[in-house]
Amino acid sequence: MGSITLKPGREKSVKRRHPWIFSGAIQKEADVLQNGETVDVLKSDGKWLARGAYSPHSQIRVRIWSFQPDEEIASPFFHDRLLRAIEVRKLLFADKTVTAYRLMNAESDGLPGLIVDRYGDFLVCQFLSSGVEMWKTEIVTQLNLLVSPFGIYERSDVDVRHKEGLKPTAGLLSGQMPPDLIEIQEGALRFWVDIKHGQKTGFYLDQRENRVAVAEFARGARVLNCFAYTGGFGLWTLHGGAEKLVNIESSASALALAQKNVELNGFDPDKVNNMNDDVFQILRKLRGAGKEFDLIILDPPKFADSAGQIQKASRGYKDINLLAFQLIKPGGGTLFTFSCSGHLSFELFQKIVSDAALDAGRDAQIIRYLSQAADHPIGLNFPEGRYLKGLVCRVG
Ligand code: SAH
Repeated sequence: MGSITLKPGREKSVKRRHPWIFSGAIQKEADVLQNGETVDVLKSDGKWLARGAYSPHSQIRVRIWSFQPDEEIASPFFHDRLLRAIEVRKLLFADKTVTAYRLMNAESDGLPGLIVDRYGDFLVCQFLSSGVEMWKTEIVTQLNLLVSPFGIYERSDVDVRHKEGLKPTAGLLSGQMPPDLIEIQEGALRFWVDIKHGQKTGFYLDQRENRVAVAEFARGARVLNCFAYTGGFGLWTLHGGAEKLVNIESSASALALAQKNVELNGFDPDKVNNMNDDVFQILRKLRGAGKEFDLIILDPPKFADSAGQIQKASRGYKDINLLAFQLIKPGGGTLFTFSCSGHLSFELFQKIVSDAALDAGRDAQIIRYLSQAADHPIGLNFPEGRYLKGLVCRVG
């Protein structure tokens, strides 16, 4: 087996069980060949520290599989890691009213780069690192053994694969081809999901708990749901008794599904206005027209893909939050505001929202801090796993 030897003093993160080794920490590489191959990670004095997947194209040169010297990277290893992750979800979703959730959350569940989402009888996978790419067949075999799904579909059609020297790819990996739309249940509500063409693996599973939370603030409310995708937050506000709902979404196909989801749940379509448009422009128009809302949801896409984009992203967040504060009914309303940019810290996000309220001349209080759902855990050894952050603000 090949090995990499760290520079003196660079073993600190490994000792804290952080799963990444950056190229700059490496002193020497020996006998390493293929992208994704298993290598031993050694301290500068040659002492064994860990075992991981080698990725010559990436800044993250090794992603660690195991910190145990006697653990071989082979079938039983993948079986064990997947089983552990699946057992946790069995507890989380024991009441069976949620039929779509994340089964495997990559680094935070012990298999760096592997995402597995369950949508009813089908699994959707993303192989985002060269290590899991190398072990794809084994992982699919183990998933079939442990879950027995109708089919396993791959959605690795994402640009981050290039960083690992891998090409984006998508298609059926095993079993039956999934239908064009899969119906899932999320507690009291049902949704159509397009796993083959939808965003991510088809649905924003990470927002499940926050969608449920929004219902509590919706009774009798006029709701503005920005970046609506297939209507998730909007549907939950209807469930909570919203009087009027405006969805804004730039993807026509996502918004068409939002419409279908209103029908699927038997809500009155006359209460819903779907706008296939740009949030930044529509918020300005609504402000110009003097419109007011009782509840606004801002769930934008990731504005920062890298640390270098934080400034630009901050301006984007400030802009939409400022507009939202201006559109909330004077005297009282609620804002649900999110950022899913991992590179933007929680502290900075809160500061941006606070600045936006100040500039809008509105008094606001944080009444709840939100994060990603429990099936998207954050390894204590892997703070990078935290990306979704949200604030619920009571606006005076
Ligand atoms: N809240 C959704 C997920 C939102 S993801 C849910 O719970 O399911 C962000 C969405 O914003 C995507 O659907 C994307 O198509 C849309 N989007 C991105 N930029 C936009 C823009 N400028 N205006 C409107 N929608 C936009």
